[in-house]
Amino acid sequence: MPTRRAFVAGGLCLAAGPIRAAEAGRPDGAFRAFIEALRPEAAARGVSPRTFDAAFRGIAGPDAGIQARIRGQSEFVRPVWDYLVGAVSAGRIARGRARATALAPTLSAIERRYGVPAGVLLALWGIESDFGASAGSVPTIRALTTLAAARYRGTLFRDELLAALTILERGDVAPDRMSGSWAGAMGQVQFLPSTYLAHAVDFDGDGRRDIWTSDGDSLASIAAYLKDLGWDPAVSWGYEVLLPGGFDLSGYAGDIDDFAKRGVRRADGKPLPGRGHASLFLPGGLGAPAFLITDNFEVIRGYNTSDAYALAVGHFADRLDGGPSLAAPWPAAAARLDGPGLKALQSGLAAAGYYEGPNDGRAGPRLREAVRRYQISAGLPADGYATPALLARIKDGPPARP
Ligand code: CA
Repeated sequence: MPTRRAFVAGGLCLAAGPIRAAEAGRPDGAFRAFIEALRPEAAARGVSPRTFDAAFRGIAGPDAGIQARIRGQSEFVRPVWDYLVGAVSAGRIARGRARATALAPTLSAIERRYGVPAGVLLALWGIESDFGASAGSVPTIRALTTLAAARYRGTLFRDELLAALTILERGDVAPDRMSGSWAGAMGQVQFLPSTYLAHAVDFDGDGRRDIWTSDGDSLASIAAYLKDLGWDPAVSWGYEVLLPGGFDLSGYAGDIDDFAKRGVRRADGKPLPGRGHASLFLPGGLGAPAFLITDNFEVIRGYNTSDAYALAVGHFADRLDGGPSLAAPWPAAAARLDGPGLKALQSGLAAAGYYEGPNDGRAGPRLREAVRRYQISAGLPADGYATPALLARIKDGPPARP
């Protein structure tokens, strides 16, 4: 299943960081033939020969730097907390608060129009491109052509390349200004071209949807995308919570009100809302920070399919609004499974009838649900957290049937 974002490496987006696109190098016949084969399909989508030729001018062969990146993809999965600490740094919080002040009228107008809080918009913008400061300088057509010609992820990047040509035909951006990450994610919001076509907006009213240089267009495009993904303005993304001693983890989803009645409290001391639905999320197991997450957490995962990413965005948004750092400590780094370990766990849980998702070595709601069902059957605390001990137990013998 293709993710909405170009690359999810170890469950996290790759930074839009500055890699220098390699020089075009020697002319490559097969590469040029690949480009020429796109011409009829591009024409069928309304891309003129002039736009087509301008887009590929100077691209004679694949980008060696990007090819090396493809080969370098690993199954290494950073712990949620490693990512969180890096993504929500003190410096970034300070820069975000300064941007919040400078852009206050724009942010209020966008929040009114789309119903997504300014803090969430700033958090996403900050994590994607450091508030526009590092949007990536790799030419998008060069990146997508290299990825598509390598048939990386099947036809995903070929489709994205055709979408990118459609954007150029519409004139929103000139070919030499269409840039972003080596994985084809564009501009300050890191949209793939198909996401751009479906969700980007022209907020400042100059007639172009400019996610490369316009703060207003960038922030409003993030807001429009989250709204389209189903953002509910009535609830937060979630809350860090403290669980009472002996809390029954088998009841891990329900009305927020019921959680409050069962003794769950917000870690910052504020009251939980009296309405809404949520589920418990323990990304480091029992004893580590625990969260009640709402459907808006899933909306953020729609932007980038990663628990760590969604948690970082939510927590960063809270910090921008003056919230405290997390109350509970994270666990020791050893007590977690890496990509191959998660794959083995998925296989084991699938063989026992608990798990039906892909064997992709990635943590997410489906694996968490399977782990919880196994834990409940086995009489373990149902924190949904995949540990080496849990994998060993499943490998050891047939687990109880669900
Ligand atoms: Ca605009």
